Amino acid sequence: MPLDPDAPTTGRQSTPPQGSSGNIGMPTSDGVSAPPWTGTGSSPAAYEGEQDARVPRLDAGQHATGSAGVSPVPRVVTKSSATAPGGPAAVALTGMTLHELQVWAVDRGLPRYRAAQLHRGTFRRLAKSFAELTELPGPLRDELAAQASLTQLVVENEVQDAPSRTTKTLFRMDDGALVESVLMGYQDAGGHRRHTVCLSSQVGCPLGCTFCATGLMGWARNLTAAEMVEQVLYFARRLREHGQHVTNIVYMGMGEPFLNYDAVWQSVRILTDESGFGLGSRHITLSTSGVVPAMLRFAEERSQVGLAVSLHAPDDDLRSMLVPLNRRYPLADLIPACHQYVAATHRRISFEYTMLDEVNDYVDQAVALARLLHGLICHVNLIPWNHVEDLPYRPSPPEVIGAFRDTLERYSIPTTIRDTRGSRITAACGQLRTITERRHAARETDPRRGH
Ligand code: SF4
Repeated sequence: MPLDPDAPTTGRQSTPPQGSSGNIGMPTSDGVSAPPWTGTGSSPAAYEGEQDARVPRLDAGQHATGSAGVSPVPRVVTKSSATAPGGPAAVALTGMTLHELQVWAVDRGLPRYRAAQLHRGTFRRLAKSFAELTELPGPLRDELAAQASLTQLVVENEVQDAPSRTTKTLFRMDDGALVESVLMGYQDAGGHRRHTVCLSSQVGCPLGCTFCATGLMGWARNLTAAEMVEQVLYFARRLREHGQHVTNIVYMGMGEPFLNYDAVWQSVRILTDESGFGLGSRHITLSTSGVVPAMLRFAEERSQVGLAVSLHAPDDDLRSMLVPLNRRYPLADLIPACHQYVAATHRRISFEYTMLDEVNDYVDQAVALARLLHGLICHVNLIPWNHVEDLPYRPSPPEVIGAFRDTLERYSIPTTIRDTRGSRITAACGQLRTITERRHAARETDPRRGH
């Protein structure tokens, strides 16, 4: 349908003049973004030309050779400094494909079928210790336990919201780093239960989106493939106790997955391995804030893994303020990359749009968004913002979100409003870690204080 703006009659009609008092953090009248953060955590400087040297760089020249399905990954980082049970520098078997496990086993003088037993035990039977692998001889189990690990994650904190069937877990890695994952339960129209794991790909995040709790933390390191896989295995074990299983995975937790591409893709390979965990590629979605070279690389993988793009604004000025990465990869680069992904995969792309009161929720912004996405096979997810302490935003009122959706749909853009499930349990990315760390700090200051 041609974009023919019918005059909408509901919702916030048009963006107010820049700098008007009703807006939080809107671009200033000289066109320069006025970020609302107060100087803590990461800043967009990490993407202003000279990127933080610790942050993995991704250049177009790094593109892998694409092929149908999942492309080979040359080398896998599987070493871990796990302290238990395998001791220092234990090898994390959860970061290996079956083939890599076979190479590892043969290198240690074990027959290949032992690798298959280990693989099945880890990813099918979901063993979390070698003691559970009873088909292996006892001495071999002891030997493996001294060299390798099946679990590196320790639960540091967990909160549940029974009505929304949501569990949020804070994991401590073996180096003390904390990351969050969420398990969300649904019942689809056919009455089938679905269980989606939202996992983290980095400790913190370097991108500093100005509405995000994780963005306030800055970036510490990338997660390994094993650390990502184990977030899923943890929930898979929990679900199995109730005869259920993980049906979907989204990489939408802490971090930008496309700044940790190789490890993320390795974790996808492991989780989709039919001889192991066996989740279908179409049940996995990678989310990006728009790391364009990695999006093009991902398109070349031509896999059935889904792509979600965190957009949050229909124009460069506002998007650069909300998502500082936009200064490096503006919409003029991002949108063509989206077209390229759709052309290569024939898959619909999802756009995430967090609704911020009087910032990006005006009807004329919905019209601009519809124009921007015209011609793309896509879907827009409107996300009511979860309040984050220390950030100067407010969630858009429900009727404003409804009017925004109606406007997009008038322009034939399929749009849904995301369930605000789990808002009672600090569901916004990064909040559980922040709250837990503050409690720890308070207890150190005053040891009489408990949880
Ligand atoms: S929204 Fe995502 S990309 Fe942006 S700072 Fe938060 S975790 Fe990073």
